[in-house]
Amino acid sequence: MLGLRLVGWLMVGAAMNAGAVYLCVAGAVLGGDPQVRPTTAAQRAWFLEHVPYGDVGPIEVGPTTVRNVDFGMDSVRISSLPVPRPDRPGRSAIEGVRYRAGWPLRCVDGVLWRRDASTRRWEYRGLVWVPSNPWGRRALLPLRPMWAGMAVNVVAAGVLAATAVRVVTAIAQAMVRWVRRRRGRCPGCAYPIGASARCSECGEALRPA
Ligand SMILES: [Zn+2]
Repeated sequence: MLGLRLVGWLMVGAAMNAGAVYLCVAGAVLGGDPQVRPTTAAQRAWFLEHVPYGDVGPIEVGPTTVRNVDFGMDSVRISSLPVPRPDRPGRSAIEGVRYRAGWPLRCVDGVLWRRDASTRRWEYRGLVWVPSNPWGRRALLPLRPMWAGMAVNVVAAGVLAATAVRVVTAIAQAMVRWVRRRRGRCPGCAYPIGASARCSECGEALRPA
């Protein structure tokens, strides 16, 4: 019974988390002033691990551009320095723009990749366009789960929902009891109060003995 309840609240939490991700994405205004920062070791490792082009040779990762750390969404753009390619006399760079969304923790990500920045189109990895309002505005929705953030967000949302339901129920019960008492009825069962200190219907103590 407890296990079933837990699963139920976690499902509610998962649904709320999915809604939160959508709101983060739909509300984000990506643009504005990019902030150029030194690339951290973790970002560099991420880039080297995920770059989808196998034949590029050694990669030097350039500085990171963080764009609009918005409420619940951010994008990090990492470029490689131009690398020589055997099939082409020129040099080309690889760019990856990683979008992450979720609140309170980022829990999904997706990446736009491209090489030969001037000639090739962006490749979408784990990103889809979704409508963000009824008038045709669109937003980029990341789809790949980041499990640590996902777990924290789902549990947090589930706890929040369970607590909210509990608080609302308690307030409603208190109001019902208050109204019954004012009408001269037992707060527990609404049976008319007689002379005895206990309700003759449900046994609730009606006044201090
Ligand atoms: Zn009663």
